[in-house]
Amino acid sequence: MSSAAARPVAEGAQGCGAPTILKERGQREVFCGLTGIVWLHRKIQDAFFLVVGSRTCAHLLQSAAGVMIFAEPRFATAIIEERDLAGLADANAELEGVVDRLLARRPDIKLLFLVGSCPSEVIKLDLAEASRRLSRRFLPDVRVLHYSGSGIETTFTEGEDACLAALVPEMPAAAAADRSLLVVGALAEVVEDQFRRLFAALGIGPVHFLPPRRAAELPAVGAGTSFILAQPFLANTARALAERGARRIAAPFPLGAEGTTLWLRAVADHWGVPPRAFQDATAFGEQRARRALSSRRERLSGLRIGFFPDSQLEIPLARFLSRELGMVPVEIGTPYLHRELMAPEIALLPPGAMISEGQDVERQLDRFRAARPDLTVCGLGLANPLEAEGLATKWSIELVFSPIQGYEQAGDLAELFVRPLARRARLAV
Ligand code: SF4
Repeated sequence: MSSAAARPVAEGAQGCGAPTILKERGQREVFCGLTGIVWLHRKIQDAFFLVVGSRTCAHLLQSAAGVMIFAEPRFATAIIEERDLAGLADANAELEGVVDRLLARRPDIKLLFLVGSCPSEVIKLDLAEASRRLSRRFLPDVRVLHYSGSGIETTFTEGEDACLAALVPEMPAAAAADRSLLVVGALAEVVEDQFRRLFAALGIGPVHFLPPRRAAELPAVGAGTSFILAQPFLANTARALAERGARRIAAPFPLGAEGTTLWLRAVADHWGVPPRAFQDATAFGEQRARRALSSRRERLSGLRIGFFPDSQLEIPLARFLSRELGMVPVEIGTPYLHRELMAPEIALLPPGAMISEGQDVERQLDRFRAARPDLTVCGLGLANPLEAEGLATKWSIELVFSPIQGYEQAGDLAELFVRPLARRARLAV
């Protein structure tokens, strides 16, 4: 967990039905970026994440990943204990020793991430230099990269952004004439395969995904590359890709029937796919998704929902829940508001929606206690106390771990919001 101090609260402007934006700085209740390892290690199958951290970091990872069973773990923590500056050389040597032993034991590892954390003894280590030194030693068999998952610098999903941004400079250069589409953001393989099929039906290709399933499949990037974000929390990765000459396709995110259609259409329009061909390729999937949503709409329509800031998925989720399921967002918390990336989503929010950026958790709790939404989406740390106060909650972390993007998943995504309400109704009988 991480927290930050300092107060000032500033109200954002409101006009023409645009959402009110409340900026807050204060105590935060959000996981740190190390959490991303829990889904990233499953995605890049020959990568290993070595957290350079403390026992706290090791505990966080173990409890976040506790529900999973591994044949061979693909992450670990090198515990750097408290030491003075004179002990730094030893710490570097220790880290190299851990890497040596790991790579000798695990020849399947092709990509090793050294992941920084926030204990002061880790901050003193130069992980950029350590990864360069180790890469020199182990290339071409293993590439060693680094990024920070520290709670001081990152919240929850920003760990994925930092990891993917670290991959971008490693991507080979593509010739400007080589046109390709890059889908950016870790997606479940089943979702990735569905999108591959849809893009093939639309005649769009070649299509690559970042992160790739294997380190050697890192796609090439250049001026002919267009990319679309599949996850909303990847501002640094988007910037790094733009610096390599790639062009971002702006769109809402592929959540729900409408969101998926708008996301696909943005790519199709960019690619010059005729409207008729687009209709032919997407109508069936969209109709199935709408059918799957209709029964859930009966359960959710008119109910009020509030989001604490956590995964940065909050704004796209609020758009989906309000437009496709008739829910009423009372407050949409987000740890950061990337206005440019979020513009297509914000344009679709209901008039007068309230977005809060950042967090002052006590004030926010007071607002939720006063508003008493029918469902509150929040982190694990807040769920139990709110349940004890009689509020129904949904763990936001589940929304990051579950396959929720695309037509086929639209019904399952809605079901994630139906379930806690159904459970509560059963308990109340
Ligand atoms: S990186 Fe920092 S916030 Fe995250 S688990 Fe380690 S000590 Fe805690």
